[in-house]
Amino acid sequence: MPARTIDDYARWLEERVPACSQFHATALGIARDLMPVHQAREEWRKLRLLERLSLPDAVHTFTVEWEDDEGQVQLQRGWRVQHANLLGPYKGGLRFQRGLQLDTLRFLALEQTYKGALTGLPLGGAKGGADFDPEGRSAGEIMRFCQAFMTRLAPYIGPDRDVPAGDENVGEREIGFLFGQYRRLTGLHVGALTGKGPGYGGSKLRTEATGYGVAYMARAVLARQEQSLEGQRVVISGAGNVALHAAERCLQLGARVLALSDSRGYCHFPDGLAPEELAQIKRTKLDDYGHLADCAGSLTADYVGDGEVWEVECDLALPCATQNEIGRAQVEALAAGGCRLLIEGANGPVEPGAEDALAAADIIRVPGKAANAGGVAVSDFELAQQEGRLPWTRETLDARLQQVMQAIHERCVEFGEGEDGRVDYAAGANRAAFDRLARAMQAQGVG
Ligand code: NDP
Repeated sequence: MPARTIDDYARWLEERVPACSQFHATALGIARDLMPVHQAREEWRKLRLLERLSLPDAVHTFTVEWEDDEGQVQLQRGWRVQHANLLGPYKGGLRFQRGLQLDTLRFLALEQTYKGALTGLPLGGAKGGADFDPEGRSAGEIMRFCQAFMTRLAPYIGPDRDVPAGDENVGEREIGFLFGQYRRLTGLHVGALTGKGPGYGGSKLRTEATGYGVAYMARAVLARQEQSLEGQRVVISGAGNVALHAAERCLQLGARVLALSDSRGYCHFPDGLAPEELAQIKRTKLDDYGHLADCAGSLTADYVGDGEVWEVECDLALPCATQNEIGRAQVEALAAGGCRLLIEGANGPVEPGAEDALAAADIIRVPGKAANAGGVAVSDFELAQQEGRLPWTRETLDARLQQVMQAIHERCVEFGEGEDGRVDYAAGANRAAFDRLARAMQAQGVG
């Protein structure tokens, strides 16, 4: 029987996917936004589109065996969750993280499916990774782990099947190792991964795309309020791929970046981050795999090792580190510091219980599926470029990225604007994505 209420749906989900709290919270959040629309369309209800779109097509689980520098055999768990390929091949990042759980990947694959749909591009949704902690591992160990991981993953991926990209702790270096192993295993130099180096099939803007896209989303939201990024005080969590490129574009668009963080502490720049300081942080974090503490002494920053970046007063908060980094206490700190807009560079940075607190504090929230979709959009350009053997310039890619982010903003407004003119970006993103997915599902039949 099709679920008629949220409670029916919650029970149905718990029975099918037990004990997955992050996945349930995400699926329920989406269902709350969709239930009125879904229930109002009899043909959608009968086809059980909401329920069908809640469950992944496949979950692949494997063991990754590799040898460390001491010759010890190490065992890791690896996964690939293929959620839906209704609109295009499965697509989504790989992350390496100590303690990574399948539950997290299930929720990220669901989010990725909606994100791909929002872009308007031919993208399905997936996510994968392993409980491998790269901290303290040598470059040789990371290479051997990537190779062993790909040996297990390769049977499930391919250009028209499933195209992974990077995510937390999986950057251009790791994608290079993964791609090299895929090529050796299959003998094919094809677009089976995105985020490759520009010298061997990659896009000239993939590394920057997610962070730049976050800044473009911030610009679009402010433009609707007849404001610009010029002079806005921005606080960013994280100092990885997304955070540093969001900082870069925000600076270029005239904002003042007042803080950046990593897993050990944060840097507060009372006078604003300078471009040359950002270049130094990029070297420390992205090239040398170090920590902010390693370079803080040569910056104009106050380094805080035992606090939270959200203590710094701001107009815009860009959480770009990891999931569940913002709970009620962090919302209180943001509200007290004058924050009006929170744009999610990370996936799921706001705990489900804290979303209401943001609304109550009158802080507009743009969800990750809308704000960080620039990365997957440029991944799609990377595939098109590789298939067509056309080397696109950075300028062309950046212009297309801006168009995609603007179009996502417009879709969120179209589906999320209330009678009072305010936009619920989270609801708008879910409804706009579902509209596209539901139509594809309806057209493709049951089976
Ligand atoms: P990276 O691994 O490059 O960077 C993550 C950053 O977050 C690091 O600086 C890390 O610090 C910091 N961090 C991790 N945990 C914490 C914490 N608890 N508190 C403070 N800082 C923390 O990852 P990405 O930049 O690629 O990804 C960041 C987020 O963006 C993730 O949620 C990811 O899913 C999402 N995303 C990424 C995309 C991409 O294209 N890369 C695309 C779309 C979404 P340290 O260096 O000390 O570990």
